[in-house]
Parts: sequence; structure tokens; C-alpha cells
Amino acid sequence: MKEAQQANIFQGVRVNNMVEDVALFQFADDAIFVGEWSLKNAKNLLRVLKCFEVCSGLKINLNKSRLSGVTVTKEEVISMARRLDCKEESIPFIYLGLPVGGNMKSAKNWQPLIDKFCAKLSSWKAKTLSFGGRCCLCKSVLGTLGTYMFSLYKAPKKVINTLEGIRRRFLWGGTSETKKICWAAWEKVIREKKCGGLGIGSLRALNLALLTKWRWREKTEPNAMWIMIVKSCADSLRSSGLRSSTGGSWNTIRSVEKDLNEVGINVSTFLKPSGDGSSWVWELDSSNIYSVKSLRKLIDGITLRLLKRKRSGSVGSPCKNNIHLWRVLSDKLPTRVNLTKRGVVLPSVDCPLCNIRPESLDHVMISCSIALAIGAHLTNWVDWWPRRVQSVTDFWDKIRRNGEKNANTEVRKIIGAAFFSMLWKLRNSKVFKGVVQSDLETVREIQTTAYHWVRCRSKGGRLINWEDWICNPANAVNLCTALAYR
Ligand SMILES: [Zn+2]
Repeated sequence: MKEAQQANIFQGVRVNNMVEDVALFQFADDAIFVGEWSLKNAKNLLRVLKCFEVCSGLKINLNKSRLSGVTVTKEEVISMARRLDCKEESIPFIYLGLPVGGNMKSAKNWQPLIDKFCAKLSSWKAKTLSFGGRCCLCKSVLGTLGTYMFSLYKAPKKVINTLEGIRRRFLWGGTSETKKICWAAWEKVIREKKCGGLGIGSLRALNLALLTKWRWREKTEPNAMWIMIVKSCADSLRSSGLRSSTGGSWNTIRSVEKDLNEVGINVSTFLKPSGDGSSWVWELDSSNIYSVKSLRKLIDGITLRLLKRKRSGSVGSPCKNNIHLWRVLSDKLPTRVNLTKRGVVLPSVDCPLCNIRPESLDHVMISCSIALAIGAHLTNWVDWWPRRVQSVTDFWDKIRRNGEKNANTEVRKIIGAAFFSMLWKLRNSKVFKGVVQSDLETVREIQTTAYHWVRCRSKGGRLINWEDWICNPANAVNLCTALAYR
């Protein structure tokens, strides 16, 4: 193409003060040719392509090629396309899965992404997956298309709200038709784990962080072709005295800085020239290289109104159970008291296990006679089992002992989490199946579950043997000090 341009066989598009004309954009297996609108130019392009075909042996399929014109009438495009034997295309069109030339401020152009969200987070999946599984899917749903669109266009508020709504409904097991109770404010759920959330993160912050990456690229790749085109377009607009009213992608990217300023983030405080001035550093990330994650965390940290560090509810157990623990510690389980608070009418709020007191979370996990009986058995197994506690928080504080970090704390947390998990399982089996197993069976289940979790935790954990574990869990773990803890 370059040679064709130099020999004046093909006229590309002149971009203001760029040295060369622009004629070809290539990405992966796609190519876009841009040039002046003339039959001669178009025919010459076909001849160049023919030469390429002969040299490379790769056939050009004109049927798959499209022709479109900028500031050219539709009739002209159609007649030119017929002459070239290819199809006509109108703007906006889809390139590499992205709409090009459309107004991305309009929500309707985001419909493909919304449809994709709905398909991925569908009701049958919500029914078949555990809470933990749904949580993982919520995190990853954006996938390639979403990340791609989010990194080029700023999504309108309405679109973000729709997408967050789909994620929220899915997480709590509802669908677009049926509504389920959302047990915690979405803002709290998507917070970072250490701030008491599930670490899902907001889409808005992701969108802004992805767009800010262009600022970083602008600084670090000053000679890239896209920068030259963008700058040159901006210059020509400025010199012509016109103001861009269309809000092209670059203008939107520029406007992101304003959005960030509104939440109190000034990008230039983090994006600085390096000491010797030869390169740029991004101070938010320890690697000094721009990372979407670092900015996303910062935006979420401010916009989700994070509280100070809360009780950590993470133990070395599978994700599903970590989330169960999170729901226990933040009182987000559907106990009868909680259900009534949310307007569900029940024949009785009494605890299904003892039928004496209302079933609140503290009751079912701590003060119910069943919980006390199982706790008493566990006291015989481990000497540190919390006694005379009133509430779940109280219990967990005693388990954590001010957040000491060592293998013993890990063991206590794992057994505590297994205790909550098995009690809830017991309660559900009574409510839904009418079956209650004996206390001793539950105790054995807690011991085996916790054993399993500890073994899954690390390579060292695998060495722990069952006899040592049953004899004294902390000692068993200390014997295999390889247990890694967070
Ligand atoms: Zn009870």
C-alpha cells in the first residue's frame, strides 16, 4: 500500500499536519482501507489487492468486503459498490464487534451488551448455581465484549444502571420476571472484601479506569499513529474555530478526567514524568505502570463510601463457604426474623430447631439449644471454643483474637466457619426436608468439613492426618507448618 501511495496510484486521506496520508488500518484479520472517494482510487485499490492475492496466495473475498462513504450520498455508495462487486455499508457499522460511527451516548447502541449480560446471567443459571458461583459469574460477566466496549466508550448512566440491575438480580437468584429479596445494598455487596463486601467492583469505576488508560498511552506512546491522528484532528478543529459538538470517542475520553475530578480524583497527581524525564510513571501501582485495577479500586473506594476496615470474614475454605461466612457476619441470611423484616409473611417466626425463640441470626448460630449443645461437644474437642458469647460478632471476635495472624487463628477461623455452615445446613434440612440429624453427627460433619478445608488450603495441609486432627487440630497443623495463611 505504501508503494502504491508513493507512486500516486492510491490516494489515502490527508490528516492535517501528518507527514503521510492515512490509507490502511489493520487489526488481527481485519483491514480497513481509507481513501479519497473516486472510482479511479477504488479500482486501483482492487488492483493492489489483486497483486496481493497473486503474491501471497490468499484469496480476497469481495463478497465479504464492504464499502461505505463519509459525506457521500447513499445512492453513490450503492452504485460504487455495484461497480466494485462488493456490498455497501452504512455508518454506524460493526468493526471487530464494536459499533463504529454510532452515537454511544445513546443507550440503544448499548443494547447488544445488555442482551449479552441477560443471556449470560440467565435465570436457569441462577437456579443451578450456588451463591458463590453466581458471585464469580457476576465478576466475570463483562467478558471480552464488555471490556472492549468499556475501554473505548463511556457508558451512559442508564446503561450502567441497567447492567448493575441485571447483576444484582442474578446474584440474589432472581430473574427479570421474578423478584427475589436482595439481602444487602448492592453498594455494600460490590465493595472490596476487606471493606466488608464481596469484591465484585462497580462497572462505572471499571469503565472510567479503562478509559483513563488512554491518557497513559497518550503519554507513553507519543509516536503512535492513533495519537497523531487524534492530535491532528483536534488541531484542525481548533484552527478552523469550530467546536466539536458530536462528542467523538476522544472527546469522551477527555471528559473522563472531569468525571474523576467530580469524585475528587486528579489523574495528574498519579501520572507523572519519571525522575530523569525520559518516561512516565503511574504512582498508584507499585510497578509504576498504569493498571486499570489500581484506579478502579481508588474510584470504588471513594464512590462506594467505604467504611473503615471491617471484620475480615475470609478463611481458608472454598469460595462458596467464604461467601456463606460473609452472609453470616453481615446478618444477610434468610432467617425467619430477617424474612419478616423484609415483608415476607410467615406462619411463625419461631426457630424451626427449638420452637421456643424467634429465629434471628444470633439465635440460630449462638443461643439456640441445638447450637449450644453442638458448641458443648466442640468444647470437648478444642480448648479455645468461645464460651458465654451473646452474638455472632462476639463469637467471631473471640475466634479472631484481635486479628492475630498465625496458623492457629486460621484453624480457629476454619472450624468456626464450618460450625456456621453446618448449623445453617442443619436448619435448612429441618425447614425444607423435616429431617434433623443428631448433634454428634453434626459435630462429626464440622470436624470432617474443617479437616477437608484445611487440607485444601496448601500443599502442607495435605500432610495433616486425620488422627492428629481429631486429637488436636491446632497441633496437627503446627506439625505441618507449611500451612500458608493469608
Ligand atoms: Zn432455636
